[in-house]
Amino acid sequence: MFPKMSENLAIVRSRLNRPLTYAEKILYSHLDDPHGQDIERGKSYLKLRPDRVALQDATAQMAILQFMSAGMPSVATPTTVHCDHLIEAQIGGEKDLARAQDINKEVYDFLSSSCAKYNIGFWRPGSGIIHQIVLENYAFPGGLMIGTDSHTPNAGGLGMCAIGVGGADAVDVMANLPWELKAPKITGVRLSGELSGWTAPKDIILKVAGILTVKGGTGSIIEYHGPGVNTLSSTGMGTICNMGAEIGATTSVFPFNDSMYNYLAATKRKAIGDFARAYAQELHEDKGAEYDELIELNLSELEPHINGPFTPDLATPISKFKEAVETNKWPSELKVGLIGSCTNSSYEDMSRAASIARDALNHGLKAKSMFTVTPGSEQIRATVERDGQLETLEEFGGLILANACGPCIGQWDRRDVKKGEPNSIVSSYNRNFTGRNDANPATHAFVTSPDLVVALTLAGTLNFNPLTDTLKDKDGNDFLLAQPTGDGLPAAGYDPGRDTYQAPPTDRISISVAVSPTSDRLQILQPFNPWDGKDAIGVPILIKAKGKTTTDHISMAGPWLKYRGHLDNISNNMLIGAINAANGEANKVKNVTTGEFDAVPATARDYKKKGIKWVVIGDWNYGEGSSREHAALEPRHLGGLAIITRSFARIHETNLKKQGMLPLTFVNPEDYDRINPDDTVDLLCTELAVGKPMTLRVRTKDGKTWETELSHTFNESQIQWFKDGSALNTMAKAAAS
Ligand code: SF4
Repeated sequence: MFPKMSENLAIVRSRLNRPLTYAEKILYSHLDDPHGQDIERGKSYLKLRPDRVALQDATAQMAILQFMSAGMPSVATPTTVHCDHLIEAQIGGEKDLARAQDINKEVYDFLSSSCAKYNIGFWRPGSGIIHQIVLENYAFPGGLMIGTDSHTPNAGGLGMCAIGVGGADAVDVMANLPWELKAPKITGVRLSGELSGWTAPKDIILKVAGILTVKGGTGSIIEYHGPGVNTLSSTGMGTICNMGAEIGATTSVFPFNDSMYNYLAATKRKAIGDFARAYAQELHEDKGAEYDELIELNLSELEPHINGPFTPDLATPISKFKEAVETNKWPSELKVGLIGSCTNSSYEDMSRAASIARDALNHGLKAKSMFTVTPGSEQIRATVERDGQLETLEEFGGLILANACGPCIGQWDRRDVKKGEPNSIVSSYNRNFTGRNDANPATHAFVTSPDLVVALTLAGTLNFNPLTDTLKDKDGNDFLLAQPTGDGLPAAGYDPGRDTYQAPPTDRISISVAVSPTSDRLQILQPFNPWDGKDAIGVPILIKAKGKTTTDHISMAGPWLKYRGHLDNISNNMLIGAINAANGEANKVKNVTTGEFDAVPATARDYKKKGIKWVVIGDWNYGEGSSREHAALEPRHLGGLAIITRSFARIHETNLKKQGMLPLTFVNPEDYDRINPDDTVDLLCTELAVGKPMTLRVRTKDGKTWETELSHTFNESQIQWFKDGSALNTMAKAAAS
């Protein structure tokens, strides 16, 4: 891999004749055509050949169903599937896992047999969270991978460009097609100084999120560099890259360094570390490399931060947090503290958390709030069990959950507060959109380091700053918590724990993959109809969505996760979380054919039955959040034609194109305000051409019309997807010819 990388880079270097950033080196060394590819950051579309694909169980179902319809005998690129999203947290790891294996049997059997059939590595339920497993087994410096999960960038902690995509993109790569990515801009974050005391790697990304906001990383790779990088552990860098997804970044990456070498060696991949050392000159930025934007952070001056509620970019340093709680009237009692997840469950994280818990226990104190611990993998769980951290966290009051996503993705049977009751929770997770963890819109969810989660859980309140505030020990004496400490890597090596991996068998021909026609969890896909070649006239607006419309609003997770393999059933959640600009309510829109208000999916189904296409009007950064292509498949399945917004999140925009929909943006963003939800629109689809705007004609209720322009990012091949009905249709056509 490294020699090929150097060869391709030499070609690109001779063409560009300028110093390259590290992220550029990774991307350009994976070009399908290094000689002929147009390369302009922020402009050209790169055709890339990733080294690897990773799928999680919720997204894998649809990706594999799509791959099956391409008719190939096995995947063309190394691929793994990870069972992590479908395990609900209720009473504790073992029992929750057993229940999930029972409830999801049909899906796990489908994934297990289809993985065996198509030569895909299968990580069974209980093995851990996709990004942790990838870091432990597959990520390597200089590599390029895609994953059907938005926190795939976690592998940047091992110097890999790892990018979250929709299932349709993964299907392309599994089927040996080059993968297309708009050449990202590169934002440099130069780190100097060194973290100390209560400040953890998580605080770097919490601070960067505050600076760049949820939109600030859109279309960019965040590349960390500078002397501060060498003070961080590999898993700490993973945490930072993981949460780069919250600022919309394409991915985040760190240059190869000794911490990565040590982590590779500790996870039985020393040979890869030695190779990386031999090619080290290509595994960091060139001298003089230029960034599109540069942020400087002195780690010695960085304070611990707490971000939230409701958005990950509302960053408050711990010294100002009490004041913010009071000013904003956030519920100050802390109901639940949650540590772990793919973001923060490394050996270092668990060790530091346990050191705080031990200090508290030594003073006769335990957690005041409810406290949960989610190990990121079986290997982490077994190792911290062996080394005692798990026992300490349990003694402190922790409920050890399964090695899975659990409450992070709404798989949480939470019973301590009623729905609608305002309350606060704090986690070491990455994402805190409204309702994400417990489906309660009144839950104020904050994200921070595991260190601060443990400290606040101990105090039972948000009004506690462990750097300055004392607690009373069991005898009533004041004491200040000791600063957290913990090793980056286990001195006795990792304990792999139970073997949860299923390698694909050599004889795969005899394996059959069955999908029952009566299943309510899985459904074989039917191809979408091609475009009818006509302009769309008099099309209703299904909903004019107001404000934040994330993929959680478009296709909710939680209880709906179980329908991820059944397009018709899961479509009953389409846009039910989006706020209708007409009435400020969720899931209540007017059906223009009946004048009645109804749920969004029911209204769309009625239009579809009547042969009426429809559009959605959306606000800024529509589709931010996750890579789930269901958010694009559902509107297509229910008869949608176009999503017209002020702007899109990158992955969602591409997903819509793949499914044969039109993601369009207002050339004048203020046109969003001019459109009334009762208007109908004409969309001149016949004008669709590369680099040209499309006309939108708006017909108001009182019979007036006005016209405006919509822009788009379609290139030639993507236009073909629209014409054929979907990218998959284009692929099947090519395979048949
Ligand atoms: Fe799972 Fe949460 Fe990580 Fe997503 S962010 S992979 S839901 S733990």
